[in-house]
Amino acid sequence: MRVEVARYAGVCYGVERALKLAEEAAASGATVKTLGPLIHNPQAVTALRDKGVEVAACLDEAEDGTLVIRTHGVDPAIIESARDKGLNVVDATCPHVSKAHEAAEALRDAGYAIVIVGEADHPEVEGIMAHAGGEALVVGTAEELPERLPSRRIGVVVQTTQSLARLTEIVDALLPRTSDLRVANTICSATGKRQQSAEELAGRVDAMIVVGGRNSGNTARLVEVCKSVNPKVQHVETADELDPAWFEGVEVVGVTAGASTPEEQISGVIAAIEEM
Ligand code: SF4
Repeated sequence: MRVEVARYAGVCYGVERALKLAEEAAASGATVKTLGPLIHNPQAVTALRDKGVEVAACLDEAEDGTLVIRTHGVDPAIIESARDKGLNVVDATCPHVSKAHEAAEALRDAGYAIVIVGEADHPEVEGIMAHAGGEALVVGTAEELPERLPSRRIGVVVQTTQSLARLTEIVDALLPRTSDLRVANTICSATGKRQQSAEELAGRVDAMIVVGGRNSGNTARLVEVCKSVNPKVQHVETADELDPAWFEGVEVVGVTAGASTPEEQISGVIAAIEEM
């Protein structure tokens, strides 16, 4: 079987930066905890623990030392409370997520009612919501838009890992229902590039494997994008999950990976497929 890897796949700039910041903090000998798992990849989180980076589920679980804020960002009130507790805060919020925060604040200050395109229970969306003033509407699809919009002046901000197709669908639905619509396209370029190259590859191979954490939003979106052009798509976290039955009659397998998937996991999956 031949394996082809998507042109853009795996760890993005923001995740690389966050891992470096957390590892540097741990190397200085301080007690280091991340507020929630640093990235949505269980294997990478275990590897970080081995390097001395623990996970605090909430602020109460971080008593001293350094607290690392993950790529998804948080409500600014949390950073303030951490500093008030005397913690050394290392802010690893991805700069692309910070741009979404700034866009939400600007729209709020300009008096727009805010719609966030994203997953309501995703930590990144919770952070954007805080920057939007806590009263934004969160929708994942155009059908989720309410019958009555809160205003005729709507500002749209997008979770960085959403697809352009999803944003376009929601903007199209809002356009006839608003008199003033502002859209901040805060989808990050790493996400866009990974989705486009995954779709291009999935469209021309016999089967597609997507590698990444099951709790990773951007990996789930890659699965979605690949499924839109290829019925044989499987999502795995590690090589152990590969099932030979998936590859019956398959000559070329495409591989892609979410922005939080470390290189070792991708190469492990590729090696296992090649051995089948
Ligand atoms: S996917 Fe984009 S927004 Fe998310 S961490 Fe990576 S570079 Fe930042």
